[in-house]
Amino acid sequence: MNILILGGGGREHALAWAVMQNPKCDKLIVAPGNAGIAQIAECASLDVNNGGAVVEFAGENAIDLVIVGPEAPLAAGVSDVLRNAGIPVFGPSQDAARLEVSKSFTKEICAAVNAPTAGYGHFTDAAAAKAHVRANGAPIVVKADGLAAGKGVVVAETVAAAENAIDDMFGGAFGGAGAEVVIEEFMTGEEASFFVLVDGTDILPIGTAQDHKRVGAGDTGPNTGGMGAYSPAPVLTDEIAQKALDQIIRPTMAEMARRGTPYSGVLYAGLMIESGQPRLVEYNVRFGDPECQVLMMRLGAQALDLIHACAEGRLNEMQVTWANDHAMTVVLAAQGYPGAYTKGTPIGGLDGLTEDSFTQMFHAGTSQDDGRFIATGGRVLNATARGATLAEAAERAYALVDAVDWPEGFCRRDIGWRAL
Ligand code: ATP
Repeated sequence: MNILILGGGGREHALAWAVMQNPKCDKLIVAPGNAGIAQIAECASLDVNNGGAVVEFAGENAIDLVIVGPEAPLAAGVSDVLRNAGIPVFGPSQDAARLEVSKSFTKEICAAVNAPTAGYGHFTDAAAAKAHVRANGAPIVVKADGLAAGKGVVVAETVAAAENAIDDMFGGAFGGAGAEVVIEEFMTGEEASFFVLVDGTDILPIGTAQDHKRVGAGDTGPNTGGMGAYSPAPVLTDEIAQKALDQIIRPTMAEMARRGTPYSGVLYAGLMIESGQPRLVEYNVRFGDPECQVLMMRLGAQALDLIHACAEGRLNEMQVTWANDHAMTVVLAAQGYPGAYTKGTPIGGLDGLTEDSFTQMFHAGTSQDDGRFIATGGRVLNATARGATLAEAAERAYALVDAVDWPEGFCRRDIGWRAL
């Protein structure tokens, strides 16, 4: 099978690694890829948000399956163009991607099927939004309706902070994403992520994870794209996962099918768990980054069989084989991130790493210059490992971190602290 993966971060390196473990993969191309991916697969430059260009590229390269990594091509309808051209694709249609692209759409679907989630209001003008905030008090959560790369959410401690956030959003701080605003009840509890594959009809859980969004030790400081993750998430017990399936995910998927927009691909449910009850925080219509890295580490080669079956509507034939293991990924970022940081610093030690089915260094923002690895982004490397226990996974992941010689980089030293 010839496979094309769209994307070029740590998520896509982990997907590429898992795909390459499977003997059914004859050829793998990743567009655009990165310097780590280039060591295991062919990288190509391609406008991944342009469906026509992706179809043409897939035709020229006899591609049998396209795996879409990030949300932008999904929001742009690239899956639809591929499906219409008869090319199997892992990723939802543009209509189904609204579960991530529009927060008010997701709230409306949840209301239609009575799925547990935060109470909310949906506003198109600042005065009405502020009146809602004043009537409900703080803490309260203000969200730009559209995609804002994880930055369009303000958990406001005071009414004044919420009003400022409303002014910012309607003032254009997030462009078109903030033309509509959702205001939510503040939920307390512990957050965890639940991943399922959906093929329009069947739903197959493929793992749980927790991530660390804050830059600093003890989950303090500014928000980032994620500084590390681990799987499974102890807080998401089998019983709570079953509740999430029965009360949230299955009804949502049934409603999407009923509306003529069935969902196909990976669905990532962000859950808030309190007193044994899950509530939906958000849906994402793709794997999380860095959560994908720990899921792929645990699934290994079977990930390709699962993804392929999902794309072809054969999930009913599949089951996941679990080793009773744990995985952790530690993000190495450029000093200064998530604020201003320097690009182009050299990274040593990457060539001599011991990597196998238990430890892998997934690259996120790297390129190669004259045979040297160079940091090109904020989040740059993902030291990823698995073990019989989370402590063993952590020991291996940090050993990988310590083998890297990158004075301009840093990582959190306490990934998984809650579970450990
Ligand atoms: P990301 O892509 O970074 O996950 P997003 O922009 O899609 O973020 P959400 O996931 O909806 O936004 O919210 C980001 C974070 O804000 C959540 O992970 C959670 O910690 C917090 N949050 C969101 N909604 C609520 C809520 N109703 N109550 C409490 N905390 C919330």
